[in-house]
Amino acid sequence: MAGLCGTIVSMRHDINIDDPRAPEMAEAIEKCVHCGFCLAACPTYKLLGEEMDSPRGRIYLMKTALEGRIDPADAQPYIDRCLGCMACVPACPSEVAYGDLLVGYRARQESQRERPPLDAMTRKMVIETLPYPRRFRLAARAGKLGKWLAPALPPTFSAMLDLLPSDLPPSQALPETLPAQGKRRGVVALLPGCAQQVLAPGINHAAARLLAANGVDVHVPRAAGCCGSILLHIGAEQEAQALARRNFAAIADDVDAIITTAAGCGSGIKDYPLLFKNQPEAAAAQSFAAKTMDFSAYLAGIGLRAPMQLPTDTRVVYQDACHLLHAQGHKAEPRALLREVGNLQLLEIADADTCCGSAGTYNIDQPEIASQLGARKAAAILSAQPDVVVSGNIGCITQIRQQLAQHTGAPPVRHIAQLLHSALP
Ligand code: SF4
Ligand code: SF4
Repeated sequence: MAGLCGTIVSMRHDINIDDPRAPEMAEAIEKCVHCGFCLAACPTYKLLGEEMDSPRGRIYLMKTALEGRIDPADAQPYIDRCLGCMACVPACPSEVAYGDLLVGYRARQESQRERPPLDAMTRKMVIETLPYPRRFRLAARAGKLGKWLAPALPPTFSAMLDLLPSDLPPSQALPETLPAQGKRRGVVALLPGCAQQVLAPGINHAAARLLAANGVDVHVPRAAGCCGSILLHIGAEQEAQALARRNFAAIADDVDAIITTAAGCGSGIKDYPLLFKNQPEAAAAQSFAAKTMDFSAYLAGIGLRAPMQLPTDTRVVYQDACHLLHAQGHKAEPRALLREVGNLQLLEIADADTCCGSAGTYNIDQPEIASQLGARKAAAILSAQPDVVVSGNIGCITQIRQQLAQHTGAPPVRHIAQLLHSALP
């Protein structure tokens, strides 16, 4: 804290816990100097105006809970309201690794926490269905039939139903290999993901074809699936580990990169070293995380091979996914790709770096805050008057689509890969 004498005081702690991630959690706490620079970047602080709903407040709560000085149940509502959007990380001059603290803390608390029955049931449904495309498709179909019940259900259930699209697209399996067109410039594995395969299978198709058209061999390993990030985000550590292990076995390490088309997946995979700390798979986790790249960052890195153009003049808003912008630091790459497309006018919106409220399963767990953030995002988008909105994350796409649907004449929302694919020569 910058005190009256102007000295900087970092946070002392007395954390004595048996947890492999204790050093990372303690380091994040120690580095915080209470300066408060992160507060203005935090969506929940901006919305709720409470210190305990800010990064600084949450760090203090996690510290005192880990020290055993407060009942973790008292801290829990504030930690649950954290989006995990990581906007506080680039805003922090002391380089506090807030994500290391939050991931470790949530995993630890989940094993010790008692949830009310309805909460526990919602969580179980998320864990048992979202990562598995077949189960999720069945659940989504059943949920679609029950949509009319939404207003009568508790908020988390009705939020789940509201997020389901009225029509699910037919499933489209990708070929196991899409060979590079022309001279080969790279070899990648495309991580097929989970819910996105059901909600928008066209995203992976567009990404794979775009990569192949740009000289990249694309492998889609049949045995690969959900990366577990959506579960890691909610502290379901063992379930996330099981899914990650399946991908370690399924994806050969002789590729240049492992490509994700959902920002949340890429960001969660970057946490694998922490997830597998001191475990036999620690080296595999390091290597997998190091090779993982977001689709737009990889494509911008190799560069578009041929000029691309949309058929007509199109005004485009690029919506930053927090897990791409803040957690992985990719602001320039998707914009650079879009700027290369003819007939495309790229528009910037107010508060572009503030979360839309999707944040993994946040719009199910905290529907009111998510809806307020979503409404703000929709208003910012509409005031730019775009013809189309693009993003690099299925969660953001679903959330923004739902919010924009409440406005007449609102623009469609697509994945950046789909828009770029439609500009191929
Ligand atoms: S900006 Fe960083 S050091 Fe300052 S209060 Fe926030 S987390 Fe702590
Ligand atoms: S992760 Fe996002 S919501 Fe959570 S404290 Fe940081 S800025 Fe706030």
